[in-house]
Amino acid sequence: MKKVYKEAECATGALDGKVIAILGYGSQGHAHAKNLHDSGYDVVVGLYEGSKSRAKAEAAGLKVLDTAAAVKAADVIMVLLPDEKQASVYKQDIEPNLTEGKALAFAHGFNIHYQCIIPPENIDVFMIAPKGPGHTVRSEFELGHGVPSLYAVYQDYTGHAMDIALAYGAGIGSARAGLLGTTFREETETDLFGEQAVLCGGVAELMKTGFEVLTEAGYDPENAYYECMHEMKLIVDLVYQGGLSLMRYSISNTAEYGDYCSGRRVITAETKEAMRGILKDIQDGTFATQWLQECQSGQITLKARRRLESQHPVEVVGKQLRGLMSWNHAIDVE
Ligand code: NAD
Ligand code: MG
Ligand code: MG
Repeated sequence: MKKVYKEAECATGALDGKVIAILGYGSQGHAHAKNLHDSGYDVVVGLYEGSKSRAKAEAAGLKVLDTAAAVKAADVIMVLLPDEKQASVYKQDIEPNLTEGKALAFAHGFNIHYQCIIPPENIDVFMIAPKGPGHTVRSEFELGHGVPSLYAVYQDYTGHAMDIALAYGAGIGSARAGLLGTTFREETETDLFGEQAVLCGGVAELMKTGFEVLTEAGYDPENAYYECMHEMKLIVDLVYQGGLSLMRYSISNTAEYGDYCSGRRVITAETKEAMRGILKDIQDGTFATQWLQECQSGQITLKARRRLESQHPVEVVGKQLRGLMSWNHAIDVE
């Protein structure tokens, strides 16, 4: 197995006396800022004037500055803005304030890998990319656990970039689970592939399609929701805990036999070929170009699809059924 760093192996002193700026206070931003603050580091949150997140960050006891001022004040600058906004904020607020020896950090390699941001040579550039949603990075930390992260060093000007990256990963709680080394290229391509083919695109379509087949055949949507969406979490929790073996140990023999008979009728050779096509589009820049063009034209498709998807019957019935489970509180996003 490839080396995975745990807390005891991270030189946590590498961040001592340094100011860490967290740019953005969204899904990842709030989690990194709060976790690093709780780990005893000197954190400042960088936001644009008029950001609604200012009040939230201040209420959490964090210092907030305008983006440019935060970059100026910090030794380590973690960019947790939406990927599509990073290049313009970089030009305007970050680059002019990047003096020699500072460290610029990312939680996803998109902008560096596709060269939307080209950093100066006299700084460190590293990545800590949590393998989980920002809200989980925070909730696991609060439980004394951690979400594993990938780390990568793109530029090591000071000779300390790796130590700083590992200390940062430990500071957000990831070294409790493990820090795995990678490159900006590998992280960017695997992260985009995972979210498109498996975790978000693949799983969402799988659940929706199962729901549609059942309801179109006349079964109750409530029943179809429990079957195809609600139970997904319970099954995935078992996989998370003990792999496919634990899941298959826990389900009935009938379910296990059905799994072996039918899984490959759903995920076919054609599906695998489609996944290879998705990976190719990521590797050759086709997807990145398409996404950046979508952003230049005001994210019209993104907004339209968001609206249409929220009207899908599985979302409508799901909201009603989740409302019956008092312990299932929706997360207040932003
Ligand atoms: P987000 O959309 O949840 O939050 C972005 C934040 O940036 C918000 O607080 C927003 O107000 C702020 N912002 C927007 N424009 C700004 C500006 N001009 N100046 C200052 N602040 C501005 O973003 P996110 O999903 O947390 O993603 C941040 C980074 O983390 C991305 O690189 C993403 O790929 C990466 N990442 C995200 C997740 C995740 O769980 N969401 C997981 C791994 C990596
Ligand atoms: Mg990811
Ligand atoms: Mg991603």
